[in-house]
Amino acid sequence: MSETIFSKILKGEIPCHRVYEDEAVLAFLDVNPLSPGHTLVIPKEAKATLDQLSDEASAAIGRVLPRIARAVLAATGASEFNVLQNNGPGAHQAVFHVHFHIIPKLDGKGLGVGWQPGALQEGAALAAKIAAAL
Ligand code: AMP
Repeated sequence: MSETIFSKILKGEIPCHRVYEDEAVLAFLDVNPLSPGHTLVIPKEAKATLDQLSDEASAAIGRVLPRIARAVLAATGASEFNVLQNNGPGAHQAVFHVHFHIIPKLDGKGLGVGWQPGALQEGAALAAKIAAAL
């Protein structure tokens, strides 16, 4: 995978405001936050999108995400938040190293969500197709 700004942060070549680190995960403040406390949680494994991530790196992220979210809430006073994870330029991904946004909802600031739901079509066939691909 080509080098990204996050791999440079992992190597210490670019500074960050670190909030958490272990052998597999780093978390730091987003440099352009949607709200105060907007934090990025990244695996040290360098993969562009979530579907490429190993089970081990995924588990390491999953283990600490709720704990980091609790700390962000405690530090900001927020009680609500979004977790956002973008994959691909069409899905608003700008940095091609897997990352989870923790975005507090605070004083009207935070993630704006455009959500235009449709009606589920052919659910049984689609679920079976996804299940078969697992
Ligand atoms: P995404 O659109 O999901 O790829 O989000 C990438 C995020 O990385 C954006 O919210 C940026 O503000 C953030 N970002 C980019 N460069 C840095 C950096 N050097 N330090 C912290 N956050 C960054």
